[in-house]
Amino acid sequence: MTVKIAITNQKGGVGKTTTAVNLAATLAKVNRKVLLIDIDPQANATSAAGIEKNTKDSLYEMFESELALEDCVEEASGGYQILPANSNLIATEKIIEKTDTRERFFSKNLKKGTSKYDYILFDCPPALNLLTINAMEYCKNVMVPVQCEYYALEGLVTLKSTIEQLNSALGLKIEIVAILRTMADSRNRLTREVSDQLEKHFKRVVLNTIIPRNVRLAEAPSYGQSIVDYDIKSIGAEAFLSLSGEFIRKFEK
Ligand code: ATP
Ligand code: MG
Repeated sequence: MTVKIAITNQKGGVGKTTTAVNLAATLAKVNRKVLLIDIDPQANATSAAGIEKNTKDSLYEMFESELALEDCVEEASGGYQILPANSNLIATEKIIEKTDTRERFFSKNLKKGTSKYDYILFDCPPALNLLTINAMEYCKNVMVPVQCEYYALEGLVTLKSTIEQLNSALGLKIEIVAILRTMADSRNRLTREVSDQLEKHFKRVVLNTIIPRNVRLAEAPSYGQSIVDYDIKSIGAEAFLSLSGEFIRKFEK
C-alpha cells in the first residue's frame, strides 16, 4: 500500500521543502520507492533535487496535455523520483476551478502509475490554496513542519480548524497525522517551551524526531543534493535518518 503524505503549513519558511526532499532521500536510502510531487511554483524542492527550475513538465502540463505520470517524473539526485514544479503550476488552479470536482481533482486524475510507490509526498506552497487542499484530500494524511517559535501554535491551531471546516463542509477525511519540530535549537528557552507545549496539546501526533538547526541542511540544496549525499556525518543527516526510521515504524504497520 502507498503511504501518501501532504507536507503542509500555510506559514512560509518553516522547513516544508527541507523536510520533503530529505525525508524522500532518506526513505530512498532504505530502498523505499518514493515519489515527491512539488506543487509549489517556487519549485524549491525541484531545484533541491538537482533539477533546473522551469525546464521540466509539472502537474500543470500533465493535466493540461493529458500526459502519463511516468512520462513526467524525473530522477532526483537523492535516489527518489520527483514530479517537478514550474511556474505554470499557478495556472493549474484555473484548470481545477473549471471542473466540478474542485477539491477532489487530484483524487480523480492522479491514479495511474501511483501504486508502484511506497511513499508519495507532496511539497506544498505556503498557502492553503486549491492545490494544497487537493494534495491534503488526495493524501488524507497531513504532516506539518513547525518551527519552535512563538506563533507556531497559533498557526497550527488555525490549520487544524481549517481542516475541520473542510472536512465537515465537503465531507472530506483529512487528518493531521504528524507534527515535525524543525530548526530547533535545544539551548534556546523558547524552543524548549514551544516544544513542550506542542507535546502537551498534540501529544498523539508530535514526532519524537526533532530536526535541529544545522547550516549543512541550508547549504545542501544549493548543490542540488540531499543532506545524506551532501554531508552524511552532519547532525542534519542524522536527524533525517532518524525521521525516516520513525516514519517506517509509524506508517508501515
Ligand atoms: P516556503 O514556505 O517558502 O516553501 P519552507 O517551509 O519550504 O518555505 P524551507 O525552504 O525548507 O521552508 O526552509 C526555509 C529556509 O530555512 C531555507 O533557506 C532552508 O535552507 C532553511 N532551513 C530549513 N531547515 C533548516 C534547518 N533545520 N537548519 C538550518 N536551516 C534550515
Ligand atoms: Mg518550500
